[in-house]
Amino acid sequence: MRMIIMGPPGVGKGTAAALLCKHYGIPHISTGNIFRELYKDQTEVGKKAKGYVDRGELVPDEITNLIVYNRLLQSDAKQGFLLDGFPRNTDQAAALDGYLKESNIIIDAVVNLKAPDELIIERIGGRRVCETCGSVYHIQNLKPQVEGICDKDGGKLIQRIDDMEETILRRLNVYYSQTEPVIGYYEKKGKILHIDGTGTIEEVNDLIMKALGESV
Ligand code: AMP
Ligand code: ZN
Repeated sequence: MRMIIMGPPGVGKGTAAALLCKHYGIPHISTGNIFRELYKDQTEVGKKAKGYVDRGELVPDEITNLIVYNRLLQSDAKQGFLLDGFPRNTDQAAALDGYLKESNIIIDAVVNLKAPDELIIERIGGRRVCETCGSVYHIQNLKPQVEGICDKDGGKLIQRIDDMEETILRRLNVYYSQTEPVIGYYEKKGKILHIDGTGTIEEVNDLIMKALGESV
């Protein structure tokens, strides 16, 4: 399975993606996660990306596209992958198409998760991530067993700088002006599955599975 998951920040892409990747046994390729890891590892490209990420702006395409191409070349992506957070503008979508065509790779499905702004703002505001492993929690919808502590490794749960209130609106603006047009791009290709992202994690997963023709 080769797929792309799209949708506004905070709609639950990462959570849905993790379940899909487990189901299909494919790597979860999240450009946001890659940028955060590159920064944590103190790489030059991570440091370059950090300012954009913290401000809620898109990292320039020449950096982002290369990161994705390199990731797709790794052996675990040969049998399938899920792209989460890429492409985020129509230039990236066109660049990805060119790359895939050259590599003879076909995308099987594009999933577009939808939710109204109010819900997105609430979901991002309540999101907490593990400082150590990046696992995602929510103060109401996806609580850890012990408040403020990661279930997996005991790491401290923190709020991402770009999840803070003043940056959420900028990220939504970036989404509507730059990323939403990508939906039209895939609609023209007849590939996109629109999914209601307002339900619980299980409900959204069931809707995606059904849309993909899997029995649930
Ligand atoms: P995310 O974790 O998907 O919300 O991404 C966090 C941040 O990483 C975004 O706000 C951007 O600054 C950056 N980023 C992630 N994916 C992309 C992309 N495809 N193009 C440019 N910047 C990206
Ligand atoms: Zn953790």
